[in-house]
Amino acid sequence: MTVYLLGLDGASINTIKETLERTRLPNFERLIEKGAAADLKSVYPYVTAPAWTTIFSGVNPGKHGIFEMFEVREEKILPSNMRATDVPLLWDYLSWANKRILAVGIPFIHPAPKINGVFVPGRFSPRLSCYPEDTGSRFDLQGFDYDDLSMEEKTEKILVEGSKKISIKILKNLEMRAKTISKMIDAEKWDVAIIVEGLPDDLLHLSYGDDAIVDEMYLALDRLLGQIMRRMTPEDSLLVFSDHGFCNVKRVLFMNEWLLQKKYTSLNETVLSRLLLRLGLDWESLSQEGFTSKVFRFTLEHFPWMATRITNSLRSGMVVNENRQITASKVSAFSINEPLAWLRISEYQEGNVTQGSLILELEELKEKGLLKNIFETDKIYTGKFVRFAPGNILVEAPDGWAVDTLRWNRRKLAGKPLFTKKGVHRREGLLLVYGCSVKLDSPRVHDIVPTVLDLMKLPVPSNVDGRSLLGMKQKEPVKLLNVTQRL
Ligand SMILES: [Zn+2]
Repeated sequence: MTVYLLGLDGASINTIKETLERTRLPNFERLIEKGAAADLKSVYPYVTAPAWTTIFSGVNPGKHGIFEMFEVREEKILPSNMRATDVPLLWDYLSWANKRILAVGIPFIHPAPKINGVFVPGRFSPRLSCYPEDTGSRFDLQGFDYDDLSMEEKTEKILVEGSKKISIKILKNLEMRAKTISKMIDAEKWDVAIIVEGLPDDLLHLSYGDDAIVDEMYLALDRLLGQIMRRMTPEDSLLVFSDHGFCNVKRVLFMNEWLLQKKYTSLNETVLSRLLLRLGLDWESLSQEGFTSKVFRFTLEHFPWMATRITNSLRSGMVVNENRQITASKVSAFSINEPLAWLRISEYQEGNVTQGSLILELEELKEKGLLKNIFETDKIYTGKFVRFAPGNILVEAPDGWAVDTLRWNRRKLAGKPLFTKKGVHRREGLLLVYGCSVKLDSPRVHDIVPTVLDLMKLPVPSNVDGRSLLGMKQKEPVKLLNVTQRL
């Protein structure tokens, strides 16, 4: 028996249904018809790194310690890495039970961990690594060598190449990976095959709303799904899931402008930046088809050094200096432009700000309809890492909004999204189950590990926050104490 796990970063039932209204997806359709389907609830914040870590550990971010795409450690901001967590991950449990595992495309893990099988990381690792080391000579791993760019690098690239051209290129990379994945699945008899594909997240940010491109992506993913389903025997099971879903974005709340209004942070513009902004060169003008963006595109293409110099001076008036912000503000905000942001009360600045007073003040944004939820970190997480969360408070914007903590917006609280972001994350992702009977009663990302362990007839440790989704009667979680008592 083989358990197949297909993780589709950012895929959701609503976006699949939108595509199904326009085109057929035979394998997804068969899954929805013959299997079970549900929205899979993600963690807070529903961003890739903490959500995948919860998927593969079964515990909340307070226990695994990964809260963001980045980590705020004292004055530094570093990218997250699943290897930093001390909780066991799915492949650890399976390796200890001597099961053979194929794990490919797993994001935010570097270098590849040693498992009983083959491991190839996916997006957001500094460079390609694999276990065993000779994996690269057995399989073509070219498609797994991602270049993950920063917001500004991405903006420049999209300005020069156009989002359509980039979307087509990343679709081609998927075909390359799909070929390798097929070969890997056939290489031996696996107990568990874990395949994560990062494409939906990449593409839906860039091209959500461009129906032709989104449909083409789901068609390519449908073919990948077909490759797996064709290999399944009646004993096998398949779980298709995502770390979060997607929705359209129309408006943006500029968190730093609010912090500036409340005198929790300060502006640090240069004279040149103020001049350039007055001349009309800003994010808004650059993100529209018009004279300014055409000139900027031309400059980028032919005189990249000049474009860099202009953006460098503009940066102080347009982009928030993150490192300065941590030390020089009473309250600083962090996010990656999804509908969520962290607020952190400074340890470096004297002030009379408390968690309670900040929440009271934030209520005004809720009343204005600019925020949907205000959470206190120590109330939504459990575990020894709660105090390492990037902020004391996590705010959530209403549907169709994103929260920006990276840019200034000329003293206005609300504005338009970056033209590089057509879609933003939503909490509800995707769960499709095929080949085994499950009870899907508001499933969460925490439930994947216990479900897989249950399918493999392995015990579920009591530290795990999720529960098995298998229809059969729930067993008591295994506690070491019970064993000693019996002895
Ligand atoms: Zn994601």
